[in-house]
Amino acid sequence: MTERITILGATGSIGVSTADVLSQHPDRYRVSALVAGRDAAGLARMARRLGAEYAAVSDPSKLRELRVELSGSGIACGAGADAVREASERDADLVVSAISGIAGLVPTRDALKPGRRIALANKESLVSAGQAFMTEAARTGVQILAMDSEHNALTQALAAGHPDDVECMILTASGGPFRTWTRERMAAARPADTAKHPTYSMGAKINVDSASLMNKGLELIEAHHLFGIGADRLGVVVHPQSIIHGLVQWRDGGMTAGMAVPDMRIPIAHCLAVDRRLPITVPRLDLAAIGSFTFEAPDEERFPCLGLARAALAAGGAMPTVLNGANEIAVEAFLGGRIGFLDIPWIVEETLSRSAGQGAHAPGSIEDALALDFEARAVAADLLRRREPYPARAGR
Ligand code: NAD
Ligand code: MG
Repeated sequence: MTERITILGATGSIGVSTADVLSQHPDRYRVSALVAGRDAAGLARMARRLGAEYAAVSDPSKLRELRVELSGSGIACGAGADAVREASERDADLVVSAISGIAGLVPTRDALKPGRRIALANKESLVSAGQAFMTEAARTGVQILAMDSEHNALTQALAAGHPDDVECMILTASGGPFRTWTRERMAAARPADTAKHPTYSMGAKINVDSASLMNKGLELIEAHHLFGIGADRLGVVVHPQSIIHGLVQWRDGGMTAGMAVPDMRIPIAHCLAVDRRLPITVPRLDLAAIGSFTFEAPDEERFPCLGLARAALAAGGAMPTVLNGANEIAVEAFLGGRIGFLDIPWIVEETLSRSAGQGAHAPGSIEDALALDFEARAVAADLLRRREPYPARAGR
């Protein structure tokens, strides 16, 4: 039986890895729709290679280029928000949600159609609107599959026992490219330094989040929504080899680990296959070659973003939405060379404290989350405009 797959964020790191897994099983999968932001040529190439039925770019100015690149292929295409919605809603058995940032929230919500599955890589949607999104998924009967490697490993580990017997869950972190850096060195870090991730090759935004450990903070909030587990039962341990991705601690003291070489095609294949395992060509784990696994506690003094995310999760209400919005603004400014790396936690912390009166209730709908996100971005952008000279904050 062939399954129809749609990829939101098709030209990115996760999208390309997903395309690789699909092309290893051409008889099993057909591609319904592909969505990208601005890379019309890259999207057209992938659409032709995978035989997609529909391709959409969110940037309306790229329509002409996309049409030219697809001419003669018979692949329908469009550009702008309506075209992205058409792609999200189009008939598919499984939708891979892999747009970066909160830009993925509305397309992923539009993809919630009865009877289908959503493989979620786009963690920012869950951080910003987790409660509203999971409620909407349950109402429409959509199964949400965890594609993020840690959460996918936890899904696999959970299969070893009964959910009521879980004592706690632990996410591992590689520690990112700045794991051994001093704060002084981090203060001078450039965007290119965040691209040197020790174990994964990823998009620009998640590279910065991995370097600041905000990625792990966002993942704690993601785990809370995916597994319905409280902040007090979620832990993080740094494991530089990135072989163990998640651990379930059972109430008898036993532990089950989800392990694999750090290659996103493995969690992607797990999501695509659902109840069975998909044979795929990826490197196999050679334990003797690795030799040893090491673990260390995360250093929240050098990496304050992790503590900020943990605090936002514990505070609940609007705080995770504000955290995510402020972080997106800060990361964008860092990538644009407008602020230093240590300004990221500063902007997030200041935005959180200035938004403390935003309400004790988590956003009840996707629209509420988007409105809160908009306000948080405005606060963060205002901080950026009026910030003190960078050295004054570097010693904080
Ligand atoms: P990326 O930057 O490489 O790719 C992002 C994709 O989204 C691109 O196809 C881009 O064209 C598209 N896009 C961007 N803005 C858009 C918009 N407004 N409308 C439509 N499409 C848009 O990012 P990535 O590394 O593939 O990460 C994607 C998501 O998956 C993120 O949420 C990230 O946190 C998560 N994730 C990534 C990895 C990884 O290994 N890369 C692992 C786990 C989770
Ligand atoms: Mg992850």
